[in-house]
Amino acid sequence: MNHDAELEQAEVPIVTAQAEERDDESREPESADKKQPSAETPQASTGKERRRRLFKKKDMPGGLWLKCESCADTIFRKELEGKRMVCPSCGFHFTMPGAARIDFILDEGTFDERFAELTAMDRLDFTDKVTYAEKIARAVERLGQNEALLSGFGKILGRRVVLAVLDFKFMGGSMGEVVGEKISLAAELAMTNKLPLVLFTSSGGARMHEGMLSLMQMAKTCAALSRLNERGGFSICVMTNPTTGGVTASFASVCDITLAEPGALIGFAGPRVIATTLKQELPPGFQRAEFLLDRGQVDAIVHRDDMHETIASLIDFGRKAWSDESVDA
Ligand SMILES: [Zn+2]
Repeated sequence: MNHDAELEQAEVPIVTAQAEERDDESREPESADKKQPSAETPQASTGKERRRRLFKKKDMPGGLWLKCESCADTIFRKELEGKRMVCPSCGFHFTMPGAARIDFILDEGTFDERFAELTAMDRLDFTDKVTYAEKIARAVERLGQNEALLSGFGKILGRRVVLAVLDFKFMGGSMGEVVGEKISLAAELAMTNKLPLVLFTSSGGARMHEGMLSLMQMAKTCAALSRLNERGGFSICVMTNPTTGGVTASFASVCDITLAEPGALIGFAGPRVIATTLKQELPPGFQRAEFLLDRGQVDAIVHRDDMHETIASLIDFGRKAWSDESVDA
């Protein structure tokens, strides 16, 4: 465990920083609309600006088209959205933002959000380029939600559930105190209401801005799920692309059933860190859902088209744990 803890501490800043960079870049096309054409000279451009320009090119024009990160095909965004964000060429499952995931998985109009008011505290006065408080404020403004985890009641094909969804767009879906607290509260909600708990994860790991406090959420969320389990509860986690770091190493891996979307990157430390540490070349498909299914880390890989039916049948299977009050369909 000590080794894991060291890896975690070493890896968290790297993973989360990457996640945030992607997060920042994803904002680029929106802000680009408002900007005047750039007057900067090529000589003045930094590496970061160059990266941004490349990203814009991929996403041109105006975000109408985007490139599949698996097969590199150019896809019309509307078409992709019509196919539940699954690549029409290769079947790659794009990361779904939190609100879109909730719309997708729950029966229409059944989401009853809970604990939305919880907000992060900058206890460590953490600052890199901007303060942590400022980063949070920006994410809140951009996404219209207070944190990376959305939770509440809802129905999946008529079955009542407690749902919790990590949103990668909010600081890379990273887990700080609020995410940990909301997972624990969701487990308690499932317990007191005798409902199945369904989790969807997409995360860069623990939130480095909260230091040790974010790592403590690993123990806290596992304890909450363990309590749910002891009381006879039923939990399902669906790991989606990407689920990494402290989230994989805690609550995402300890539910009764662990599902994954096809091709999802699931791991703890990043492949480069592992390859460097082990001084070995990693096998093909390393840390992808299919690789992990073969090795028993996940129970099944479920295509987005089959997600509702699969979860509903698992709930029917698992509801013997609770009384039949939980089902009214
Ligand atoms: Zn593709």
